[in-house]
Amino acid sequence: MRDLKHVGYYIILIVFILIFIPLLIIGGIGEGIKIPGVFNKFTIPIERVEREEPDKKDITIKMFDVKKGKIVDIELEEYVAGVIAAEMPVSFNIEALKAQAIAARTFVLANKIELGGGGCNKHQGADVCSDVHCQAWISKEDRLKLWDARLAVDNWNKIVEAVNSTKGIVITYNNQIARHIKYHSTSGGKTENSLYVFGYQEPYLVSVESPYEDEAPNYTTKVVMSKKEFINRIKTLNSAVKISEKGLATQVKILDWTEGGRVNRIKVGDKEFTGIDIRWAMGLKSAAFSIKIDTKNVTFTVKGYGHGVGMSQWGANEMGKRGKKYDEIIKHYYRGVELNSIEEVMKNK
Ligand SMILES: [Zn+2]
Repeated sequence: MRDLKHVGYYIILIVFILIFIPLLIIGGIGEGIKIPGVFNKFTIPIERVEREEPDKKDITIKMFDVKKGKIVDIELEEYVAGVIAAEMPVSFNIEALKAQAIAARTFVLANKIELGGGGCNKHQGADVCSDVHCQAWISKEDRLKLWDARLAVDNWNKIVEAVNSTKGIVITYNNQIARHIKYHSTSGGKTENSLYVFGYQEPYLVSVESPYEDEAPNYTTKVVMSKKEFINRIKTLNSAVKISEKGLATQVKILDWTEGGRVNRIKVGDKEFTGIDIRWAMGLKSAAFSIKIDTKNVTFTVKGYGHGVGMSQWGANEMGKRGKKYDEIIKHYYRGVELNSIEEVMKNK
């Protein structure tokens, strides 16, 4: 192979000397002169390579496009590119983008009605919707407009590279496509067992360490509110709760934590709530919170962003930056899984 490559270089060099230099000398390279093949070889490293669309896989996804308000047919790999563009910052390490591509592809194929999936339960007849309800998706056109114009094409090409270099690869467990591939922004140090969040157990959705996330913008956040506001919000969960501002600190108690270190159950007044209930009622970024109540305010200190199940995107980025490849990232966050081609999975069906 190496020798053949060298021969190739020599041929290019000779062609360069024979054609390109004389043309330069006579000033012949202008708009009108095209040397197909040879000329392109010289321009590739200098000019930007524009890859229009990801390679096709000939699998069509029925996506409910929330912007258009209807179901549209979209080619699988094009769909995957749109999910990466919407779900992960393009500045992330390429290995994290590849892991995201595989997670997005696995999710949509597991949901595809034609393949026995349940589809999007919000929009009948659709495999997925383009909203965060399933996986956020954005069109190439819309995405390009949102980026700095000078970087837009390079950004898109980076996404296409992540899609094409993992083309057709999906996550499997026991030779079957993994049915519940979940991911989130920032775990805060430890991911969550799916049982605590979604009420079902998957062997590959267990709690794992997710180090190096400290640089994530939502690694730690604080939410401060008055005691009155706190009580009002608790009442949106249960209007019958008996609670008063006076001595509030003694009326709030975290009862236990989940495997991933999030609040599992909490007693507020005379009622019990889940950490997830409190997360939504109080507008917290995750259920990994602690509470401090002083004479005036209730302060939540929150770790991470999202439900915490499956791959942490910020954790994946940091793993990539530390030299881990996409398969190592996937196998870290989804325990006991394998990566397989779609064709391989179909054979085992
Ligand atoms: Zn949906």
